[in-house]
Amino acid sequence: MNKLKIRVQNIPVLLGCLALVGLLTGCEAMRSVDQGLYNATEAISERDRITGQRTLSTASRGQQIAQGNAVVEQFIAAENKAGRKVNGELNRKAYERLVRVFDRIHRISHLSKERWRPILIDKSSFNAFTTGGTYIVVHLGLMEQLSDDAELAAVLGHEIAHTVANHVFERQTHQTAALIAGSEAARQGGYQAAFTHEREIEADEVGILYSALAGFDPYAASRIWERQYRKEGSARGLFFHDHPVNPERALLTRRVADKVKAYYRKGQQNPNYAALLESNVLWQKQNETAKAGEGGGLSAFLGTALGAYVQHQETKQEANRQAQQIKVMQALNSNIKALGEQVINQTSWQVVWQNRNNVALKDVVMGVLIRDSQGKTRRHVVHIPGVIRPGARFIGKFQLSDLTIPQLKKMQLKYYLDDAKAYR
Ligand SMILES: [Zn+2]
Repeated sequence: MNKLKIRVQNIPVLLGCLALVGLLTGCEAMRSVDQGLYNATEAISERDRITGQRTLSTASRGQQIAQGNAVVEQFIAAENKAGRKVNGELNRKAYERLVRVFDRIHRISHLSKERWRPILIDKSSFNAFTTGGTYIVVHLGLMEQLSDDAELAAVLGHEIAHTVANHVFERQTHQTAALIAGSEAARQGGYQAAFTHEREIEADEVGILYSALAGFDPYAASRIWERQYRKEGSARGLFFHDHPVNPERALLTRRVADKVKAYYRKGQQNPNYAALLESNVLWQKQNETAKAGEGGGLSAFLGTALGAYVQHQETKQEANRQAQQIKVMQALNSNIKALGEQVINQTSWQVVWQNRNNVALKDVVMGVLIRDSQGKTRRHVVHIPGVIRPGARFIGKFQLSDLTIPQLKKMQLKYYLDDAKAYR
């Protein structure tokens, strides 16, 4: 890592040397230096499959597959050992649907030549993940909560995109990137969260393009995020979460859908998908024009160093922006006072709060964190329409389907301001 840092700081010297070598001894020496630089850069970077830009990476695709798949295979073995089934044995109908939608998305992706397989596991939560190999793991709970195939395609496209864009292994090397840029910020949690945030947006973009090219409604992703926000809020006022907040994500994903909808043919694969993967309204793939030995080494090397630096700066800015947002929400939260709770019936109750901030609030989302005796927590939100002036009282009604008021009385409840906009 230290070697990398020294090399980047020496770029001007290096440039000078190369020019000098070229002038004094002609092309041959210059060529061998450039070839060496190209080889060195090849060892620490790879061309981004999507944009063609160089990014830092230390593992080959073969190593990535071996490493990523081993994690999933160990996980499946542990599930079997615990008596939980996977795939078709867990739920034949759900697995067949998963495979059908998965194949349509994977077939038009940047890694369609690799043999991929979705894995369905027995978990009730709304989740899916990739480990960077050739599996995408999907929780049964996610399949049950998504309303149609287009929404499933949106999730699968997003996960495939994480692997295609090398996010899993980039995460492992991003500390190196921060060191190259000469900063310790990578050790901070906020940086990590922002790093994730940027990659989530990228995976959303690529995934939505995949959906459109495979013939799935590209607006499905924004529908998922709108629904999640209505259900769970943003958790902005709670902790430094590592996912983009849902209202923003819903908006961003809708904008991407607006851009790529021209490629969408309902139920049909776009016949130009291969060309569109290279060049489309979202990006144009860059080709390295200079060859190794003819300036290609230098440009590849500079491209990698510069890419890592720009990426680091963007991530740092995003980390600052998020930290600022959290601070504002915490300050507003400290001036929201719960005045009282009233039971409405067996499964619902209402809370009266007062806005003691000196600003009016709009689009308020209040949340409740419920902690049971085993320390497990869950959260629920209530959206309060309209504007709440300074000093005004407001009411939120919580309704749960699976817990009764007597059960709740044995648990710990904590109310918090989940989200709001200052209103003038
Ligand atoms: Zn993601």
